[in-house]
Formats: sequence, C-alpha cells, structure tokens
Amino acid sequence: MNHTTSLRPLADAASRQAYAPYSRLHVGAALRSASGATYSGCNVENGSLSIGLCAERAAIAAAVLAEGPAFRLSAIAISAFNSHGRAMPVPPCGACRQALQEFAGDATVGFLGGDGSWTEVGVESLLPHGFVLPEDL
Ligand SMILES: [Zn+2]
Repeated sequence: MNHTTSLRPLADAASRQAYAPYSRLHVGAALRSASGATYSGCNVENGSLSIGLCAERAAIAAAVLAEGPAFRLSAIAISAFNSHGRAMPVPPCGACRQALQEFAGDATVGFLGGDGSWTEVGVESLLPHGFVLPEDL
C-alpha cells in the first residue's frame, strides 16, 4: 500500500486555500502520482451550489495539467477542517470516488475516519462497482 501520511501536511496546507463561504468546510487534497510528483487541490464552492468543485478533483486536474493524459494516481490524502479549524472526518464523495478510480486502480486513499484516526484504504474498496465506459461502443 502506498502510504498517505507524508501527503497529509500538503493536504492540510491546501485546505487553507479553500474557497468555502457556503459550507465553511475547508477541504484540501494532496496526491502523489506514479512519477513521484505531488499535486494539491482545494474545494472551490460557488453561489450556484451544484457547480462547486471538490479538492480531490481539483488535485487531479492539477496533476493532469502537469503530466498530461499519462497521469496515474499512486496515493492521495484528504484533509478537512470546519470554520473553527477543527479537523473533520471527510472521506471522498461519490463523484470523487469515481474520478479517483479513473486514474488509479490500486491507489491508496487517506482521510480522517469517523473514529478520529487516519484511515487508509484502496480506491477499489471505496467504489466496488464503479462505472467503466465499455470499450466496444
Ligand atoms: Zn468530492
């Protein structure tokens, strides 16, 4: 398993850049690509609430911009803090689980679990029956 603990400080730092005036949940994500490079993202909300962007997908976009379509995810850490700066247990949402699966068959995902401990799981366990576009269309 590709550990995520070294990515956690980067995710914490990214969360401090979040634009989250509506939920006040500041989320940062930091990932390590298969190349060994790291990329970060934060959530970017919008007054039209449904078009907000999650930190995980923002980090993926940064990685694809830098590495192109060959980007492959090795590990990602997600940090979230409430408006008082308290760490919150926030695993990836459903849309981000699908986005992570696109780039990582066996990547490790780290986040604060509901019991307050750092939790690391494989992408496949977060989305056991994820959508894959059939190749013979
Ligand atoms: Zn998400």
